[in-house]
Amino acid sequence: MSRIYKKMINYTEEAVRRIMPGVLKEYLKSNPGTCTCSICQDDILALTLNELPPHYAASLAGEIFTEVSLDLIGGKAQIITVITRTIKQVSEKPRHK
Ligand SMILES: [Zn+2]
Repeated sequence: MSRIYKKMINYTEEAVRRIMPGVLKEYLKSNPGTCTCSICQDDILALTLNELPPHYAASLAGEIFTEVSLDLIGGKAQIITVITRTIKQVSEKPRHK
């Protein structure tokens, strides 16, 4: 049982983790003052994951995340939209000074 549990992954999280750096980079081009410290990045990730529906799947070891996985969770465009919104939210009210 515990062995199966360890291999359970949230595809939404996988997708967000992969897409976020690029979205952040794009966002910085038009908003150069945005903080990208690890605290803010963690907050962006958490807020984004709270907004997107999770999509858990039992994954075989070494299985590669594909574009197909993105479609399963609503598509890349939707994820980018949510990430962009949470970046704005976090940068306007960072948890640190
Ligand atoms: Zn920060």
